[in-house]
Amino acid sequence: MAYSYEAPVSQSLFDRASVVTPGGVNSPVRAFRAVGGTPRFMVSGAGPYLTDADGREYVDLVCSWGPMILGHSHPEVIAAVQEAVSRGTSFGTPGEGEVALAEEIVARIEPVEQVRLVSSGTEATMSAIRLARGFTGRAKVVKFAGCYHGHVDALLAAAGSGVATFGLPDTPGVTGATAGDTVVLPYNDLDAVRAAFAAHPGEIACVITEASPGNMGVVPPADGFNAGLKELCAANGALYISDEVMTGFRTSKAGWYGVDGVRPDLMTFGKVMGGGFPAAAFGGRGDVMAHLAPAGPVYQAGTLSGNPIATAAGLAQLRLLDDAAYAKIDAVSAELRSLVGEALTKEGVAHTVSAASNMFSVFFTDRPVRDYEDAKKQDVFRFTAFFHSMLAQGVYLPPSAFESWFVSTAHDERAVERIAAALPAAARAASEATA
Ligand code: PLP
Repeated sequence: MAYSYEAPVSQSLFDRASVVTPGGVNSPVRAFRAVGGTPRFMVSGAGPYLTDADGREYVDLVCSWGPMILGHSHPEVIAAVQEAVSRGTSFGTPGEGEVALAEEIVARIEPVEQVRLVSSGTEATMSAIRLARGFTGRAKVVKFAGCYHGHVDALLAAAGSGVATFGLPDTPGVTGATAGDTVVLPYNDLDAVRAAFAAHPGEIACVITEASPGNMGVVPPADGFNAGLKELCAANGALYISDEVMTGFRTSKAGWYGVDGVRPDLMTFGKVMGGGFPAAAFGGRGDVMAHLAPAGPVYQAGTLSGNPIATAAGLAQLRLLDDAAYAKIDAVSAELRSLVGEALTKEGVAHTVSAASNMFSVFFTDRPVRDYEDAKKQDVFRFTAFFHSMLAQGVYLPPSAFESWFVSTAHDERAVERIAAALPAAARAASEATA
């Protein structure tokens, strides 16, 4: 499609980047390949806004893919970072900041008795699976199609997110032996999970699921699905791992656990808990976590784990996320959902606005979306037209039809008005788009 606007400075940066970095980016979805056009190189963020290298301002509905739940450059988070930086950047020893962050996580999320800090969500899920295998002495891992758990080899089978965007259900470089211990099942299908336990008795170490998936678009668990997973795991001696890297500290004070109350054996976190820095974690039952080195035999480590700047940023952010903050995010999300729905309805565009607490996404189909197969049946070309119209009008959406949209406490009336003003033309563009 033709784009009615240009971003010459971003384009020249992208040209430079493409020489020295594969595809010009350090994480595939940033390259805009799913939607086309020039990826915007951002130079600054303030509150709900981002400013690109061409000097254009956007209302940001990506929020760094979740972490910036207080908006960009929140003064108290920045002050905590500056204070921490003034004392040094990394010691390679234990420090009080990581204790305080771990205490905050344990206090908020009741099933987490102990927690280990790492640097990325990928590391968190990779380590949780290793621990589950070490604890149970079993090899197989059950995951669901469309759930993304980072780029862990064993979990890059039928993953969502960037992999969904590119239509790469598997990736070269993951060996058959690695993927062979991964059982991929359709999401929201407890019968399939029952059948997998029956087919592999005594072999399944864990079932890992996004607490409420956001990486095939937002597809919440059906009533009783997570509770059913927990029950089946318990009955079969497997661990139930809830991946809350995206939902953790976002969908409520206690993440998705705070919404459905299903008690996982292990949980993974990232994004919000790092305040925009590389910090993530996995934790859960004390008897399981006790198997981790140096307390137990399952090895796991990290040079920058519990980094003092990251923990200071994360702790400052979490401490600001009180009930009032979640009420505000929930309200902004509800308002945007209804504005988007109204605009698309007005233009006769088939759509489903799908929400899980304050996370939401728009599927360009009016058929129900319960799993990855359903999600893939949407009119992606309509999203592409919608996306580019919004971008041209200064609203930055995730550059893929298979991603959650994120809002923050900083999305105030002015930001919402700017989004509302952009929606009619974007809905029209979606309605006029052709495959
Ligand atoms: N798990 C979930 C549910 C995620 O959404 C992501 C990232 O989007 C990850 C794991 C991986 O996290 P990271 O990108 O920090 O490695």
